[in-house]
Amino acid sequence: MGVRKIVTYPAEILEQPCEPVTVFDKKLARFLDDMYETMIEFDGVGLAAPQVGLNKQIAIVDLDDEEGTIELINPEIVKVAGEQIGPEGCLSFPGLFGEVARPFFVKVKAFDRKGKQYTIEADDFLARALLHEIDHLHGILFTSKITKVLSEDELEGVGDE
Ligand SMILES: [Zn+2]
Repeated sequence: MGVRKIVTYPAEILEQPCEPVTVFDKKLARFLDDMYETMIEFDGVGLAAPQVGLNKQIAIVDLDDEEGTIELINPEIVKVAGEQIGPEGCLSFPGLFGEVARPFFVKVKAFDRKGKQYTIEADDFLARALLHEIDHLHGILFTSKITKVLSEDELEGVGDE
């Protein structure tokens, strides 16, 4: 399938809690590959399944750093700490950026594409990206958390999630 179409707001699927994944098969692996291709095509740093029309707890994050592509299946936030306020965007809201407060640190438990559970700890921008994607899986959009909308010249190198 390759690159998929991005669901933009407003759309019901973006505001619904997603179903957990129960089957870790080739179809899931192919879907994750498609999500990656789609994220790269649209120049994002993260993508959640409902953003490509699938109501499942699947998301990816890739900041193009040494962490590589983080695949989050049925992710669960175990711990948060601190606070950060920074700019955020979303592929489902083209052209919209705003300041969003998030925890500075997050510890997440999730499954990989093979169904193996793992734990990831992240801070700063990676924590922000993980939390943004996990919100998507609960039908929570970053627009509900924006404290200040940012104009284009207030932005420098902000990634879409
Ligand atoms: Zn988003």
